[in-house]
Amino acid sequence: MPSTQRPYERSAPDRHHIWRRRAVRTRCAVMQHPALEDFVAGHQRLFVLTGAGCSTNSGIPDYRDSDGNWKRTRPVTIQAFLGEAATRQRYWARSMVGWRRFGRAMPNGAHRALAKLEQQGRCELLLTQNVDRLHQAAGSQRVIDLHGRLDVVRCLGCGATMPREQFQGELVRLNPTWIALDATDAPDGDADLEQDFSSFVVPACEPAAAC
Ligand SMILES: [Zn+2]
Repeated sequence: MPSTQRPYERSAPDRHHIWRRRAVRTRCAVMQHPALEDFVAGHQRLFVLTGAGCSTNSGIPDYRDSDGNWKRTRPVTIQAFLGEAATRQRYWARSMVGWRRFGRAMPNGAHRALAKLEQQGRCELLLTQNVDRLHQAAGSQRVIDLHGRLDVVRCLGCGATMPREQFQGELVRLNPTWIALDATDAPDGDADLEQDFSSFVVPACEPAAAC
């Protein structure tokens, strides 16, 4: 059911990747990084690629360290999610815990700066690897969610869609004793919950109802 599939293989940090990290480390990257300021000033039609580093200041953890290396276990693959009921139980239990904070994340200065660039007619297209929709929340409109989005859930059985917040209600209704659990936030709305997930109930496809 996740509308996103994360890449499995590590790729080397590219130039944009490095620039993104620099931008996140400062409160006002354009003013404090002359090279970036010159680049923005010298190109009227910008194509912007953003990743997890853009949202860390909004409280959303990322997957890699400052050198681009994975600093945690890799996200579940779509193959495992589709092939194993236990994987789906673990995914949704952790997601239920993680969503409580992920769903309330707010845009930060980097999101707002990029939205302003678009409003100024400078940003032609923003391609993001993030699934948090914070660019849109900041006001950007020409955004492609490369890895999907977490604010909507699509049933793989019947294709029906539902707001993630509404799906959260279903998860809680079916698993009331789990709501008291908590764990450290992890990337993509995940949480580092580790325990026996065999009793967690994943909502079933119910085409007659709005599944
Ligand atoms: Zn369904």
